[in-house]
Amino acid sequence: MPNDEQSEDWPAQVQRELRRFAEARDWPRYHTPRNLLLALVGEVGELAELYQWDPPTPPPPDRVAEEVADVLIYALRFADVAGVDVTKAVAEKIARNEHRFPPLNDRTP
Ligand SMILES: [Mg+2]
Repeated sequence: MPNDEQSEDWPAQVQRELRRFAEARDWPRYHTPRNLLLALVGEVGELAELYQWDPPTPPPPDRVAEEVADVLIYALRFADVAGVDVTKAVAEKIARNEHRFPPLNDRTP
């Protein structure tokens, strides 16, 4: 797994690890974009379930971490199979949002 010195393209590193994991188990045949997307939605649901009630009972931090990991894993695997360069896509999206939503001190009064 990436450490601080290798973290610049950690999504690609994680995707390579996830690809290796899936290939070692002959799972790529199940890893269609549709299947991975539905699995991602399921994991988002599991994360949401931890915050289901209002006022929420603080969920156990280890359960939150586990579900966040599941969401990220499926999102990264989906992007890999769908041919999305995650690092580039996120950088471009952040840049677009910087333009769309300027900081308060850059706005004309
Ligand atoms: Mg889960």
